[in-house]
Amino acid sequence: MADQDVVIIGAGVIGLVSALELKRRGRSVLLVDRQRPGSGASMGNAGTIADFAVAPIGSPALLKQLPEILLQQDGPFSIRSGALMSLMPWLGQFVWQSLGSNARKNMQAIAALTLDAGSRWQALATSINADHLLHSKGCIYVYESKASFLLAKQDLARRAALGVPMQWLSPADLAVLEPHWPQVEGGGVLFPAAQSVLDPGKLMQELTEAVVKEGVELMTAEVQEVSPQRGAVVLNLSSGKRLQAKQVVVAAGAHSKKFADQVGDAVPLDTERGYHLEYDGAEARVSRPVCSAADGFYCSPMLGRLRAAGTVELGGLAAPVSEARVASLSRRVAALFPDLQSPSRVWMGFRPSMPDSRPVISPSRLGRQVVYAFGHGHIGLTLAPVTATLVAACISGQSPALPIDAYRVDRF
Ligand SMILES: Cc1cc2nc3c(=O)[nH]c(=O)nc-3n(C[C@H](O)[C@H](O)[C@H](O)COP(=O)(O)OP(=O)(O)OC[C@H]3O[C@@H](n4cnc5c(N)ncnc54)[C@H](O)[C@@H]3O)c2cc1C
Repeated sequence: MADQDVVIIGAGVIGLVSALELKRRGRSVLLVDRQRPGSGASMGNAGTIADFAVAPIGSPALLKQLPEILLQQDGPFSIRSGALMSLMPWLGQFVWQSLGSNARKNMQAIAALTLDAGSRWQALATSINADHLLHSKGCIYVYESKASFLLAKQDLARRAALGVPMQWLSPADLAVLEPHWPQVEGGGVLFPAAQSVLDPGKLMQELTEAVVKEGVELMTAEVQEVSPQRGAVVLNLSSGKRLQAKQVVVAAGAHSKKFADQVGDAVPLDTERGYHLEYDGAEARVSRPVCSAADGFYCSPMLGRLRAAGTVELGGLAAPVSEARVASLSRRVAALFPDLQSPSRVWMGFRPSMPDSRPVISPSRLGRQVVYAFGHGHIGLTLAPVTATLVAACISGQSPALPIDAYRVDRF
């Protein structure tokens, strides 16, 4: 007999917002995390509610650069030396998903989730009194050279065709909008509808408080094993205790793969490690998140600090912070703002990444006894509200608000 109704493994942004949604639909929810809620990737990101981020990471353009990338340790997309062999299965899928027709399908599947992210977040933030953490000045991509701007226009045109609002910026427009950003020859693009979060860590804290206030139970514990049985799903904890739930949501971010394996779903989840550096008192350098497209990171204004966040390092969950990557990111920030020579703090976290850049939002092979919500890659903050709605539909067995075939766990 199950002693819990719904247990969610993982209190990142996906688990927290899903818990709130399920509770609001009348379910009893226990949210289990081995760490402080929201202290994983969900607090360290660039803070963009990226309704424009419909392009998958794997694309024909990236594929062309892959040999060069393999040799470059400090570029915006890199593979940690020594990790190549273990990454081969994921990389094989990634290469396949980067081919033209696959990349186009992936873009459509991502766009179906992202395009109303701003209004969903606005409604959620209002419902938990966190509007003060949302910033509505859009986001900017910057292209240094005319050639890179021209090349990017093809990708941007595909996004525009899917309904992403954007405005081209000449170097002069850019200088007006972001006067502290160094002069460029290329140009930029403003995504005017995009919102951003002024402090993702604080937002996670306020979400946690709201979740508790609305009656979700929180438990600090490490789940070791998910074992579906007749009538209940048994969760074995590292403490030796067991939980028995009617239904379980796996929302453990980059750590979700082992639980899917235990349920019998083989899923190609890996991690794209990302970094951030923060500079106290430097938030006025930009008025909104600005991404240097060539460098692959955002400079985002946050409460009391500037956060430079992004880049991709493939290298698994166990390896330590790469000091070389930190130094490289630090040099790139100093190239933009020469007085920002040393960061106030450094962070590295794990994006939960699927080779096709689509999340897994899906019942398991056993049906809705175990439901998955992981693999949101670069846009988990953006997608949390829509994911929560789809998770609630999967748990209840109701028709989801949009088709979820593209996010099924067995799509590979
Ligand atoms: C540098 C960087 C910049 C980013 N920028 C953006 C951005 O601008 N916009 C955007 O939308 N997204 C961005 N992202 C991506 C976004 O942060 C992630 O997609 C999102 O946070 C994933 O949320 P999650 O809840 O799935 O995972 P997490 O936040 O990692 O949460 C997973 C939770 O599961 C818990 N857990 C794991 N294993 C267990 C276990 N065995 N037992 C119990 N608990 C467990 C962990 O402790 C953790 O709290 C960025 C990511 C990075 C790294």
